[in-house]
Amino acid sequence: MDWARERYTATAADAAWPSSHPQYGPVLAPAGLWAGRLLWASTETAAAFGGYLEGALEAAVVAADTVSATR
Ligand SMILES: Cc1cc2nc3c(=O)[nH]c(=O)nc-3n(C[C@H](O)[C@H](O)[C@H](O)COP(=O)(O)OP(=O)(O)OC[C@H]3O[C@@H](n4cnc5c(N)ncnc54)[C@H](O)[C@@H]3O)c2cc1C
Repeated sequence: MDWARERYTATAADAAWPSSHPQYGPVLAPAGLWAGRLLWASTETAAAFGGYLEGALEAAVVAADTVSATR
């Protein structure tokens, strides 16, 4: 599945490359979507080092901990 072509997950702006390394912030989507079963786990969601591997690792740990805590 190509999410870039999915009506509810991407816009035309998402297809454009950023002109520089962006400043990332908190995820705009509200927490608790799909009864807490939808998690965001990419470098862009990290509290620090967004856009870098370190941010991706942090986001993965947060997502894994969240899943583990709900099982
Ligand atoms: C050339 C380059 C050099 C880099 N060098 C460094 C570096 O030196 N140090 C550093 O810390 N970071 C570096 N980075 C950044 C680092 O690679 C990323 O921050 C990190 O890989 C992000 O991990 P992620 O898991 O969030 O996303 P990704 O690893 O990008 O995973 C996203 C996944 O989503 C999939 N996907 C993407 N688009 C779609 C779509 N439309 N539909 C379905 N699936 C999709 C992809 O196939 C991929 O599997 C570099 C990045 C690039 C491109």
